[in-house]
Amino acid sequence: MRIVFIGPPGAGKGTQAEKIIARFHPAHLSTGDMLRAARDAKTEIGLKAEKYMSAGQLVPDDVIVGIIADRLKEADCQTGYLLDGFPRTIAQAEALDKMLGEKGTPLDVVLELRVPDEELFRRLAGRGRADDKPEVIRERLVAYNNQTSPLLDYYGKQNLLQTIDGLGSVEEIFVRIEKILDSYK
Ligand code: AMP
Repeated sequence: MRIVFIGPPGAGKGTQAEKIIARFHPAHLSTGDMLRAARDAKTEIGLKAEKYMSAGQLVPDDVIVGIIADRLKEADCQTGYLLDGFPRTIAQAEALDKMLGEKGTPLDVVLELRVPDEELFRRLAGRGRADDKPEVIRERLVAYNNQTSPLLDYYGKQNLLQTIDGLGSVEEIFVRIEKILDSYK
């Protein structure tokens, strides 16, 4: 299965991604994790990305698309993957469509984890990451609403979008996701 997982910061996407991996075993491609690893290793890409990440802004499309293009060539991606945090802009989605079109391996489904803004802000305030300062949180939500939410329409038009209610317990939400993914297996 080739899955894209979309959701605003604080929606519980990371938690649900782990559960999806454990249950369905796709390769886990989290661009946030990759960028944090690159930043911690102080690679050229990592140092460049850090400026954007610490401001709650998106890293430039060409940087991210390059990382994903390389990652998708690896062996573990050939049987399926969960794209977690990518694409985040229309340009990234178009680049992905182009790559997958060339390989003849289209996406199966795009999952959107939907949580209202007020609830997100409440949840994010309780986390402890460096990019979780209130002004950075606000900036990340702005980036989601302005740059990422247009993807919902983009994938809706391709009949790939499945929206999941992100309110409830971790287990309740996972049951909703599982039901959808079971129908694509
Ligand atoms: P995440 O853990 O997915 O919330 O990502 C953390 C940060 O990494 C984001 O706030 C962005 O600065 C950057 N990032 C992750 N994925 C992307 C992406 N697909 N495009 C641009 N920036 C990204």
